[in-house]
Amino acid sequence: MQRVYNFSAGPAALPPPVLERAKAEMLDYGSSGMSVMEMSHRSSVFLEIASRAEANLRSLLKIGEDYYVLFLQGGATAQFSAFPMNLVSPEDSIDYVSTGSWSQKAIAECSKYCHANVIASSIETGFDRIPEEDDWNMDSDSQFVHICSNETIGGVQFKEFPSLDKTLIADMSSELLSRQININDFGLIYAGAQKNIGPAGLTIVIVRKDLCSKARPETPAVFDYRAQAEAGSMLNTPPTYSWYLAGLVFEWLLGIGGVDAVEKVNNEKARSLYDAIQASDFYDSPVDPLYRSTMNVPFKLKDESLDDAFLKEAEHVGLTNLKGHRSVGGMRASIYNGVSPEAVYALLDFMKGFEAKYG
Ligand code: PMP
Repeated sequence: MQRVYNFSAGPAALPPPVLERAKAEMLDYGSSGMSVMEMSHRSSVFLEIASRAEANLRSLLKIGEDYYVLFLQGGATAQFSAFPMNLVSPEDSIDYVSTGSWSQKAIAECSKYCHANVIASSIETGFDRIPEEDDWNMDSDSQFVHICSNETIGGVQFKEFPSLDKTLIADMSSELLSRQININDFGLIYAGAQKNIGPAGLTIVIVRKDLCSKARPETPAVFDYRAQAEAGSMLNTPPTYSWYLAGLVFEWLLGIGGVDAVEKVNNEKARSLYDAIQASDFYDSPVDPLYRSTMNVPFKLKDESLDDAFLKEAEHVGLTNLKGHRSVGGMRASIYNGVSPEAVYALLDFMKGFEAKYG
């Protein structure tokens, strides 16, 4: 068996010890005589898996009892419409800071349910930065401001979070668990699992309890935060295997020292990659240095005619999924928690060798 270095933006690389453990527990979980994916979500065995995962996530991110933690389906995309339905009336507005493709998708979806009010955007500079907070237009009467804390495609990331009179909502799909955050800065955080958390099919929602009393009557029950919280995220059949796998990821993370420890590793991985790009005349980063993501590193070859050769030769040495998103081109290395420093060093070696050959 030959595992590759996988730089996929998502679904993405998972830590090998997690996969090993899932493999060991596959056929007979905890002497139950069955795999987790075959058991009832109402069984005591699964209920224990579910509550342990929640407790560990709460501990990793220091989530207080004033927040619900929900394990839902539908991806982050379902949340683009679920939170407007849960939080505001059709005549209300939600403020948005638009920093890239995922912000734009969230804005488009929100517009179906209330007024999506763009208070700042970096579209004019090609979504290469986070707009300066001083330039945000804070005049609206919206109670909420939505940000995408890490734009997976553009590779721009909030390094600090704004402190506002309004309640902050964050799409953290491509960065949750990669660095320590202060949960109390946010009213709502949501994230699809398939980057740092586990397999696709699971969506984490962390929402302050006091915000959950206004769901519109037409809100689908499966997306009603309070109804799901009261049902332990089991109003219907939850994504049991993804939930279990996420629980294994949380245990792995606790075992290596938690979010603070992984954050140091992530910073070092990102720093070494950006330093190499910065030092070279052959590669280039399209993102303002102040906002470069520690999770998704887009880069360009100055001579685009070499793109295909780069990808082909990288693939040949086991470095996969480095092609940039089709909307922006170039390359992108996604270096989530499950991507080891060795993978990044292998990529750096390859990039250096490729430059020496073609530069
Ligand atoms: N937001 C961000 C920042 C993302 O990266 C993604 C997926 N790549 C989404 C939202 C959409 O997530 P999903 O596919 O889980 O709906």
